[in-house]
Amino acid sequence: MRPLWIGTGFKMTKTRAQAVAYARRLRADLDPGVAGVRPFVLPPATALAEVSEVLDGGPVLTGAQNAHWEDEGAWTGELSVPQVADAGARVVEIGHSERREHFGETDETVRLKARATLRHGLVPLVCCGEDAAVFAAGGSVDHVLRQVHAALDGLPEGPDGLGRVLVAYEPIWAIGERGRPPRPEEVADVHAALAAVWGDRVAAILYGGSVTTDNAADLLHIPGVGGLFVGRAAWDVEGYLRLLDIARQRVGAMT
Ligand code: PEP
Repeated sequence: MRPLWIGTGFKMTKTRAQAVAYARRLRADLDPGVAGVRPFVLPPATALAEVSEVLDGGPVLTGAQNAHWEDEGAWTGELSVPQVADAGARVVEIGHSERREHFGETDETVRLKARATLRHGLVPLVCCGEDAAVFAAGGSVDHVLRQVHAALDGLPEGPDGLGRVLVAYEPIWAIGERGRPPRPEEVADVHAALAAVWGDRVAAILYGGSVTTDNAADLLHIPGVGGLFVGRAAWDVEGYLRLLDIARQRVGAMT
């Protein structure tokens, strides 16, 4: 059975000291690991190296919330995949809707970043998701399939290509402070469509958006969901540990 990937991105929260304290608590609680569950944490870039040092050799992967597609050069303010890898990143988040909305991320830059991430041996976490208007118009499946095709078409199959990719379906209407938690049936169609095309080819397809300890178990029951990508509910380490425990129970029920 493939592991359930349960990750959190801290967005623009936490000082270095706060991120390191979080990582130390995780390290203490999770060694030697959570059977069948693959945890990952994406701290702010300022804390990536220290958090990676704390978690190095344990079950929790660390990653970056963004990285440029070029390896180096005149790209003021950016970090490249080799640079975040040098700071300990094993995962690179790409194409979060906040980056698409506020920082000019496009299907093309997502495609380039996914390739750069694979080229350097890291795991691309490719985010996709439709806004409320597309959802209301019944266009979710087409929209999300188009985004994922744009990002992944042409990548080789197998462990050095698609087999290392994570896809996170994050409906914009569900994520963040202004989002609302979905009912599982509202996101099941998209997961079914993603699973039909990509399910056997990528490492996992995650759900993200207003995941909480109350709805995580139900969301993990949706066919095709291979994990969760969580914001607010995991920023408190106790919340993240509870979510990992819910995932562990789900793995136990499936085996
Ligand atoms: C996100 O923004 O990627 C996210 C999953 O946020 P939240 O869980 O806070 O809705």
